[in-house]
Amino acid sequence: MKYEEIIHRCFRCGYCKFTSDYFDFNCPTYRKYRFETYSPGGRMWLIRAWLNNEIENSDRLQEILFSCATCANCVEHCVFKFSEDLVNIFIAAREELVNKGIIPPEVRDYLKNVSISGNPYKQPASERGRWAEGSIIQSYEGQEYLFYVGCVGSYDERGRKIARAVGELLVKAGVSIGVLGEREACDGNEVRTLGEMGLFEFLAEQNITLFKELGVRKIITLDPHAFNAFTKYYPDLGGKFQVYHYTQILESLFKKGALKPSEYNVKVTYHDPCYLGRHNGEYEAPREILNSIPGLELIEMEQNRENSFCCGGGGGNFFTDILGGGSDSPNRVRVRQALETGAEIIVVACPLCAKMLEDAVKAEEIEDSLEVLDLAEIIIPRLP
Ligand code: SF4
Ligand code: SF4
Repeated sequence: MKYEEIIHRCFRCGYCKFTSDYFDFNCPTYRKYRFETYSPGGRMWLIRAWLNNEIENSDRLQEILFSCATCANCVEHCVFKFSEDLVNIFIAAREELVNKGIIPPEVRDYLKNVSISGNPYKQPASERGRWAEGSIIQSYEGQEYLFYVGCVGSYDERGRKIARAVGELLVKAGVSIGVLGEREACDGNEVRTLGEMGLFEFLAEQNITLFKELGVRKIITLDPHAFNAFTKYYPDLGGKFQVYHYTQILESLFKKGALKPSEYNVKVTYHDPCYLGRHNGEYEAPREILNSIPGLELIEMEQNRENSFCCGGGGGNFFTDILGGGSDSPNRVRVRQALETGAEIIVVACPLCAKMLEDAVKAEEIEDSLEVLDLAEIIIPRLP
């Protein structure tokens, strides 16, 4: 297995499962189960024992490895140099299981659906562009930016609303964008985090070929997961594009004065998506935008920026739900943290986070106190 030679460096000291001030547990799986095997160090030792043939493959081993949300809290908080590869090690262990064909049924089904239908929803490609029909968002025909939406924004009902809000906001602000509709393919980030490298490369090459044929040079992504795949893994496969998350474009529009929403007297808190924040270091653009809206008060949760608590949807869990529900599930913990701030809205910048947190608000029965909205959904009703 890749990284096998560094796996013994983990001391199982446990720093990685906390926030930086050790105030709270911040590995979502450890926080839920409170067993060391579900902590980053526990996973490291388990993988080592498995590679050394000290333990056998089992359903439990698979569940522990595939429940990791790849949130990168451990990457941020382990004190050793090898920590930069912690998530890579967990993905490499999954890859080993995928290659051996010993994976949980939920993972198998997800990979099968993406492989056969090109998306996890088992929907035809012809449905992919429906979300933009009847809107001011045009098909891509050489505009300055390709607006890449991804599977959740294309097929999920809530994701579609967010895709439309972001797309319309960009058009209203004068950004030249176009969408691929049924020509768009899955970005493959979740496929990769689940360890299916062959399928990931197939999807990436499909996208890269199409982007090049169409002359795409600049991409705006709706989803931080696609942003992550395009910036980190596509260049090695020959796909070198200028890639932005939509919040980065919105921030520059606010700076130029191209967006001037009306006053909105409201208290909000902001949830950092792991694949925008910890994985890609973008903490400030969404906050700059929120702070530019007159009347809006941004109240931070205790666990913010590099200490943000994951919604539990990363690493494929959004689709496989291996991490599962219950009152200690990460999304429910996170909305309780948001509620404690006194904010009326938890603002997100990722359609996966939006869904995860909205489900949690319903499960906690706090719909009357806390609303989940994407950044674009806050701005668009307040434009002239
Ligand atoms: S991953 Fe790092 S911080 Fe976590 S237990 Fe191992 S050595 Fe300690
Ligand atoms: S990536 Fe996140 S969920 Fe996975 S072991 Fe590290 S802290 Fe826990």
